[in-house]
Amino acid sequence: MTAPHDGSTPPVPTQLDAHHGPLADARAQLAAAVDHLGVDDGTHRMLAIPRREMAVAVPLRRDDGSTAVYEGFRVQHNFSRGPAKGGLRFFPAVDLDEVRALAMWMTWKCALVDVPYGGAKGGVAIDTRDHSGSELERVTRRYTSEILPIIGPEVDIPAPDIGTDEQTMAWIMDTYSASVGHTVPGVVTGKPISLGGSLGRALATSRGVAHIALMAMASRGMDPSDTTAAVQGFGKVGRGAARFLADAGVRVQAVSDIDGAVWAGDGLDITRLGAHADETGSVAGFPGAEPIDPASLVTLDVDVLVPAAVEGVITEDNADHVRASIIVEGANGPTTNEADAILGERDVLVVPDILANAGGVVVSYFEWVQANQAYQWSEREVKDRLEERMTRAWHDVVEYAGAHRLTYREAATALSVRRVIEAHELRGLYP
Ligand code: GLU
Repeated sequence: MTAPHDGSTPPVPTQLDAHHGPLADARAQLAAAVDHLGVDDGTHRMLAIPRREMAVAVPLRRDDGSTAVYEGFRVQHNFSRGPAKGGLRFFPAVDLDEVRALAMWMTWKCALVDVPYGGAKGGVAIDTRDHSGSELERVTRRYTSEILPIIGPEVDIPAPDIGTDEQTMAWIMDTYSASVGHTVPGVVTGKPISLGGSLGRALATSRGVAHIALMAMASRGMDPSDTTAAVQGFGKVGRGAARFLADAGVRVQAVSDIDGAVWAGDGLDITRLGAHADETGSVAGFPGAEPIDPASLVTLDVDVLVPAAVEGVITEDNADHVRASIIVEGANGPTTNEADAILGERDVLVVPDILANAGGVVVSYFEWVQANQAYQWSEREVKDRLEERMTRAWHDVVEYAGAHRLTYREAATALSVRRVIEAHELRGLYP
C-alpha cells in the first residue's frame, strides 16, 4: 500500500479492503480494541497489516501422472512478542484474506495465554478427501519447500489445523530438516510423540475448550450434571471436547460433522460414537440416536453450544434462534460480528475463540520448549500447566470485561492487543 502524494498516512484498513468475512470481522474487532485502548493511528495500522505474507503455487504430480496446481499461503501477522506461530490448514475454501484473519487471531491468542509468540497461519486450497496419502505428502513437502525461507524454530512454527495432522507435521519437519542438513524438531508442533511431539498435545485444544466451558457454566451457576450441550464438529477439537464434557457429567445431546448430525435426548455415548465414526467415517447413522439436520445444530434447545468446526456458522440469520445461553468457540471465528452483537443483546455468554481454543497453542508452546531442551515432560505436567494457563487467561478476561463493561470477546481482544503494543513499544521502531 503506498502513501498518498500529500504525505499523510492512508486510512487504517478496517473494513476498507475486506468488506465481509473473517478478515473484516478480525479488523473490526481490532478497531474496537484500538478505540477502547486509545491507540494512535500508526500503531493501529501496524496491527491491521500482516508483517509478512507469502503466496505460492503448489504444483502436484498426481498418482495418475497428471499435474494439479494449488494455491498456498503463509501469513505472519506479528513478531513483537516472539516467533510467529500458527496452524496450517488444508481446505478447499482457503484464501489469502481468511489466512490473514486467522493469523491475526493467533497473535491475540498467543498474547492472551501469554506464550512468547506472534501469530501466523498457513493454508493450501485443497480438498484432502480427493487425494491419496502419497499425494498429500507431495503437496505438503512442496508447500514446505516453497515457504522454507520464512519458517524455522525461531522464525515461524507451523502446527496442525483443519485438514492437517501429526503426519503432515512429520513431513514438514523432515523436509525442513533435509534442507538445512540436520534434524530440527522445533520447526513444527503437533508432531507424532516418537518424533518429539508432546504428550497431551493431540487433545490439548479439546481439553482447554472443556475446561473453559466448565468455568463458564460455573460462572452462570450451572451444574454440569444438569446441563445439556451440542457440539458442532467431530474432528481434532469437537470430538475430544464432547468427550471431556460428557466425562464431566454434561449431557451432550447432539454432535455433527461434515456428513451429518445425530441427537439423543438422554445424551450421546461419546466413546461409542467415536468408535462408530472411526468405522464409518462419520457420526451419521449412529445407532441409538436420531438423525437431525446438521444446519439445525446451532439452534437446538441446549444450554451450551460448542461450534468446533469452521468460521462463520453463527450469523445474523440464525443468531436470534440460538437457544443456548453459553457459546464456547472451539473453532476459530465461528460467530460473525453481526451475530455477536445480537447474542450480546440477548445476554448469551460468548466465550471467544482466542480464549476457548487456546489450549492447542499452549501445549504447542510446551512442545517447542521440550524440543528446544531435548527433554520430555510427563503428561501430568503438561495437563497441569495447561489448566493453570487456561484458568489464568479466563480470570484475566472475566476481570477485564467486568471492570470495563465489555463482552468477553472485546475484553480478550483488548487485553491481547495491549500486551502486543506493550512489547512493540518496549522494543521500539527500527530504524
Ligand atoms: N491451529 C491451532 C489454532 O488455531 C493451533 C495452532 C498452534 O498450535 O500453533 O489455535
